[in-house]
Amino acid sequence: MDSEARTGITLSVVVPMFNEQDALRAFADRLRPALDGLDEPYEVVAVDDGSTDKTPDLLHDLRTDWPQLRLVRLRRNCGHQAALTAGLDRADGAYVATIDADLQDPPEKLGEMLELARRDGLDIVYGVREDRSSDSGFKRHTAGAYYWLMRRLVGRQVPAQAGDFRLLSREAVEALKELPEQHRVYRLLVPWLGFPSGEVRYVREQRVAGETKYPVGRMARLAVDSVTGFSAAPLRVATWLGAVSFVTCLLLVVFSLSVYLAGMTVPGWTSLFVGVLFIGAVQLICVGLLGEYVGRIYTAVQRRPAYYVAEDTADRAAGRTGR
Ligand code: UDP
Ligand code: MG
Repeated sequence: MDSEARTGITLSVVVPMFNEQDALRAFADRLRPALDGLDEPYEVVAVDDGSTDKTPDLLHDLRTDWPQLRLVRLRRNCGHQAALTAGLDRADGAYVATIDADLQDPPEKLGEMLELARRDGLDIVYGVREDRSSDSGFKRHTAGAYYWLMRRLVGRQVPAQAGDFRLLSREAVEALKELPEQHRVYRLLVPWLGFPSGEVRYVREQRVAGETKYPVGRMARLAVDSVTGFSAAPLRVATWLGAVSFVTCLLLVVFSLSVYLAGMTVPGWTSLFVGVLFIGAVQLICVGLLGEYVGRIYTAVQRRPAYYVAEDTADRAAGRTGR
């Protein structure tokens, strides 16, 4: 593979980090032996996603006696998926793995992923969560609904319960980099590419320290981005809502005319009120759905980069930004 020839790195491990100062030491203490034990040239691409705590300082400290650790620092918080984009864009390895920094994904599985990819000639190896009992009931249920919906929208090739813990070949990474969109949901885009893939099962552990960086608002955002990024079905929902309310209106016209002809037109405040509210609500929902897509078109037309790099400890041309 040309990248292997270029840099000699077999495995790049991309780790997005946002305010992970409490988890970082424990994470490094488990990641390093797992990678050193592989006996392969590797690099760890820690993407600091605009942390406001000591994460970047700690990473600089760790780098003093861990030469394979590379820091890519983003100028501000750009979000998990954008941090992944930054890492994938800059990783040099023949294989690139992505893993969370909170030890919910076990670093010991990286070796297994690499071995499987090489043995079976796979371009993608998903980490599939066997057991999510460490996650809250709320998270499990919303995640279940999310994966069900995504399999319907994108197709069967989306593995259920596979997050952003996975291994990609150089070819798959290059295919991702060629995609024109700036704002990506990788857990859908990667299966959509259609490369040969395999799975490694693992048990989802507790976050080792710190708080989740995915509060309900961000989870909802990810879900909306996933749906609108892959399907225009919600726009058809708007059409259907319009059709249903149109038929309802026709029935109401017949009803109100017959009431008028029967000479009983004075009472009717309730039906009028309900009718007006109903039509108003349907219209607002449809405008909102349309707005989601118009917003995405607007963002796509602006073509602003998903992230800005402030520092890359391996960057030969320092000061470069974006992609
Ligand atoms: N993360 C990030 N930028 C963000 C939010 C999260 O880089 O804006 C990182 C975070 O540091 C972690 C990974 O993405 O390494 C997954 O986040 P988290 O563990 O908080 O999500 P959860 O596991 O709760 O879904
Ligand atoms: Mg986590």
